Amino acid sequence: MRVLITGAAGFLGSHLCDRFLAEGHTVIGMDNLITGNTDNLAHLAGHQRFTFIHHDVTEYMYIGGPIDAVLHFASPASPIDYLELPIQTLKVGALGTHKALGLARHKGARFLLASTSEVYGDPQVHPQPETYYGHVNPIGPRGVYDEAKRFAEAMAMAYQRTHGLETRIVRIFNTYGPRMRLEDGRVVPNFIRQALKGEPLTVYGDGSQTRSFQYVDDLIEGIYRLLFSDEAEPVNIGNPGEFTIKAFAELVNEMTDNGGGIKYVDQRTKDDPQVRRPDITKARQVLGWQPTIPLEEGLTRTIPWFREQLQRRGEL
Ligand code: UDP
Repeated sequence: MRVLITGAAGFLGSHLCDRFLAEGHTVIGMDNLITGNTDNLAHLAGHQRFTFIHHDVTEYMYIGGPIDAVLHFASPASPIDYLELPIQTLKVGALGTHKALGLARHKGARFLLASTSEVYGDPQVHPQPETYYGHVNPIGPRGVYDEAKRFAEAMAMAYQRTHGLETRIVRIFNTYGPRMRLEDGRVVPNFIRQALKGEPLTVYGDGSQTRSFQYVDDLIEGIYRLLFSDEAEPVNIGNPGEFTIKAFAELVNEMTDNGGGIKYVDQRTKDDPQVRRPDITKARQVLGWQPTIPLEEGLTRTIPWFREQLQRRGEL
């Protein structure tokens, strides 16, 4: 297959490029590099089946030759990023999704949208099944991301129903692993960086809010299976192992031998979900997928990568 991946220089996009290349496909990676970084693709320089295009998917694009699948992963994705880039976030979810769908239609390609557990907002149903419509504040600071992704889902479904386009929607729950941006402000890079530097971990609020963390390889496997499945409606891909942020901080401190402890700070963004945990019944049934990498094992694979990055920057 010849595959277009938008957001290719990002955390997830770059892992997807690796997976499709490893399976023998040809990959065109596109990114405007506002939050992505070509360092994530440096190891692919000179690869015969890989091409990189520096382009903003919200602008008109021309790609010659056939395309069999379009995977739309471009978007700022951490709360800090989309608070700083609210209009770009809305544009890439709306205009970018429209352009990517138009390209898929023109090429007769299958389309896969990276959606998010944020479509459930601050959920009042727990854990969250795909049938839950969510509890989202459209005008809050997170609304720019949540509503962009909800619009993107609606747009993908409209192309499916109106034009018969083959579309797939993955709702991605918190994912971590090598190539996350150190400064993206999310809890995993923040805690690991702080722990490796011997500093206290900044827990926002009282740390009673929960998240369910999946290792990136599990997610990529789920996405790969979804693309080749017949499932036309959204599928949650996440690890149902749920932790309070306080318990997560304690685990990171323990695994890094950090004596810095925990510092409670009043920095929760408005509408920060109090709980989040995927119901993955559907993924198990239709994809035969479930996560295989528990949190401790995933962190054991991730921490050395962060250490190396910090050493390279002279921060350790
Ligand atoms: N969080 C925290 N300390 C940090 C960064 C984040 O306690 O240094 C909390 C944040 O308030 C949220 C959770 O960790 O409740 C996950 O935040 P993240 O930014 O990773 O992603 P989200 O799941 O909110 O999109």
